[in-house]
Amino acid sequence: MDIRIGNGYDVHALAEGLPLWLGGVRIDSPLGCIAHSDGDVAIHALCDALLGALALGDIGHHFPDTSDEFKGIDSKVLLERTVAIVSAAGYRVGNADITIAMQRPKIAPYILRMREILAGIMGVPVSAVSVKATTTEKLGFVGRSEGCEAYAVVIVSREDAADGGKAGISGK
Ligand code: MG
Repeated sequence: MDIRIGNGYDVHALAEGLPLWLGGVRIDSPLGCIAHSDGDVAIHALCDALLGALALGDIGHHFPDTSDEFKGIDSKVLLERTVAIVSAAGYRVGNADITIAMQRPKIAPYILRMREILAGIMGVPVSAVSVKATTTEKLGFVGRSEGCEAYAVVIVSREDAADGGKAGISGK
């Protein structure tokens, strides 16, 4: 069994009157993320963790924010495509742990739905997807509600790694 770990981080600025999407869920909030896509920091961090696990670059490389193809895109589509990249490399997702830092609103009521959505896209049980939320005690840009951020860690694995797990990663 070849097991690899990846981590991801993302941040977006917040502004009034924009929709807020986190973990694939629309959050009832007066503030939303300024972004080329739908600004889902949790999914973006998760995608970067998945790509990072296989040393396959980052979300900006695969889905550039200069491309009209990704303007306003539902980040769940980006996660689907990222999971397809992981699968094409011969790996499957083991588990994921995501932390969202946001001062307000409270994220807790939405967490189970996020886990269900993310698990569904990644093809893993809900028990394999953790989503946690924290404030920063009013400190920093998160605490001032100028932005929100997310961190993600994932494990991916592959059976039959007779070559030591190098195939599919192509040395780049
Ligand atoms: Mg982002």
